Amino acid sequence: MPANSLEQVRNLCMRRGFVFPGSAVYGGVASFWDYGPLGVELLNNIKKAWWQDTIYTRNDMEGLDAAVLMSRKVWQHSGHEATFGDVLIENRKNNRRHRLDHLLLDQDPKLLGELLERSAPTWDPSDPQIDNLAQFCGSWLRHHDGQDSKVGFSYGLESIQRIAQLIKKGNSPVTAANFVFLLTNLAVRKQLAVGVLNEVGIIDPTTGEVGDWLQPRRFMGMFVTHAGPVQADPGTEEELASRVYLRPETAQGIFMNFAHVQRAMARKVPFGVAQIGKAFRNEITPGNFIFRTREFEQMEIEFFIKPPQFVKEGEKNDQQWHEEWVEQRFKWWLRYATSPSATLEERDATASRFRARAQTPDELAHYAKATTDIEYLFPGSLGWGEIEGVANRTDFDLSAHSKDVPEEDLKRLKLEPNHDSTEKLDYFDPDAKARYIPWVIEPSAGATRAMLTFLCEAYHDEVVTEPTKQQIDQIKSDAAMIRKNAEKKIKEAQKEIAAGREAKHDPATVEAFLNLLDETVSRLPESLTEVLTALDHEGAQNLEPVKKFRPPTEKLVEDCTRTVLRLHPALAPVKLAVFPLKKNKPELVELAQAIKERFQRHFRVVYDDSAGIGRLYRRQDEIGTPFCITVDFESLEDGTVTVRERDSMEQERVKIDDLPAYLLPRLQGE
Ligand code: ATP
Repeated sequence: MPANSLEQVRNLCMRRGFVFPGSAVYGGVASFWDYGPLGVELLNNIKKAWWQDTIYTRNDMEGLDAAVLMSRKVWQHSGHEATFGDVLIENRKNNRRHRLDHLLLDQDPKLLGELLERSAPTWDPSDPQIDNLAQFCGSWLRHHDGQDSKVGFSYGLESIQRIAQLIKKGNSPVTAANFVFLLTNLAVRKQLAVGVLNEVGIIDPTTGEVGDWLQPRRFMGMFVTHAGPVQADPGTEEELASRVYLRPETAQGIFMNFAHVQRAMARKVPFGVAQIGKAFRNEITPGNFIFRTREFEQMEIEFFIKPPQFVKEGEKNDQQWHEEWVEQRFKWWLRYATSPSATLEERDATASRFRARAQTPDELAHYAKATTDIEYLFPGSLGWGEIEGVANRTDFDLSAHSKDVPEEDLKRLKLEPNHDSTEKLDYFDPDAKARYIPWVIEPSAGATRAMLTFLCEAYHDEVVTEPTKQQIDQIKSDAAMIRKNAEKKIKEAQKEIAAGREAKHDPATVEAFLNLLDETVSRLPESLTEVLTALDHEGAQNLEPVKKFRPPTEKLVEDCTRTVLRLHPALAPVKLAVFPLKKNKPELVELAQAIKERFQRHFRVVYDDSAGIGRLYRRQDEIGTPFCITVDFESLEDGTVTVRERDSMEQERVKIDDLPAYLLPRLQGE
């Protein structure tokens, strides 16, 4: 079983030097993380696996490393400056902020119908977004056979209102969700009056009561900084002139360099450009450890292809390229999420925690023809989460940054003419003997999110020696003792609270701890390590029997279980650990050091003699080291060492001279 909570992975990461909280000396800064000695190795290995598999093993890819800071114009023409960031609305009653689109989707659809009906008459029908929606509603009404539509239809605001009435009756062919994007946009342009939002009684999901809503506002998703030493007042011309953004994605750097790479490397379309780099987003709700952070790393590909009208018979069209990239990327995730030692059953189980999900039309960005999200089933409440998006972005991006784009293309792509650009990012196709702006397929993955994915999947707590019945009974009776004591403490605390005094314990937290303890104890012996984790629960603090119970439980856990990261060997931060059987025998130490030195040029190897061999194995298992080598007295006589494999824990005698041939293919996962 992989990790069953993010907490387990987070504890391991902090304990063993994968990830540390950022700025910890000053109490930390929420959701910024530092990658420690093992974390940086793991992250580098992930990036290396991605780079090798997307560039070296293909014939149609090039690499790039564009600057983090780019002209502000890049973000103006990409659309980020105007739209990147969420629209938030605050409830005056409790000062809680919500994403407006999420809040609206949470409401009873009939209430949204009411909202639409009241606000539609105030809208400007010549606004392109409203016009689009009105046409959409009109054509729905035309094709709808229900009684209500017999009254007729129009493509104007009236059709939106008619649909709104049908939504209110629960009889609409169009769902309320179709309107959320528009409503959110209108709200931020102050065209959806906050008064109407309050009139219809939008409910705050955190309280279940009608909120008292303030004007929705857009929250800036990009970090702003300034190039140049002058400190100007925000919003002034001087400030805007020096303003730059920390990039929220690496992709735009690739679009900026499309023509450079194509010309410098004499590439013919189709070809792709790959880039790995930091990205920054001022996320409203960062969290879930390193899943969503404000500074993270992306691994992105822009794969440039022919527009559909230039695709010849036998060549792949945009849809086929999109499908191929989804398949390639999906295979990559499975390959590195699976340890080569996994059984067929384990492989199937791993595969069942990954899925490729096509975005619904509601979710799709307006410029994307199709997007497939690759998702992983993270443990606990996080559940399915996007780890990579593979989008068919058509010719939107290169057109957005091009001058002289024909009128009809601007209209089709809903773009304004770009008068700032000095280039048209098109390409002369020698086969088609024509110039065109290529389309693009974008597989975009998070490197730090990949790290969390691989860690969750690799994490295993295993019972290696079954505890005796007596030992299990002992835990059960200790747990019963804890419960008895804790229930007494709960009663005492309740009395204190009732008397208006401060209590030593919070009854609800202690109760939550007891439930967790009962649940884990009921699943012994396989839950042995979880029992220990349960003792770290907030509600267990200051309970005397817990303090007594911990040392023997720790000892039992250490004797009977191991935590092992079954990482793919290509990703493992440390590939090899070498131990001398005895640290006070110089001949053994010398030979062990010599073996380490032999391999350390190629990958990360550690030498350790700080504990007994059993404990050293456990330490390496916990960080996912695929092989451990022990040098013993026999080694001095016959030149062989014991090689112990992480997953099976099997040991083999291998000649020192044969070690490279033995280890290297295995470390590549062959
Ligand atoms: P989400 O829906 O999770 O916010 P997104 O759709 O905004 O993600 P993209 O813009 O498609 O994400 O970015 C591509 C990839 O970058 C995501 O699949 C994810 O792996 C990673 N990523 C995006 N935002 C973050 C973040 N705040 N922290 C860590 N990784 C991120």
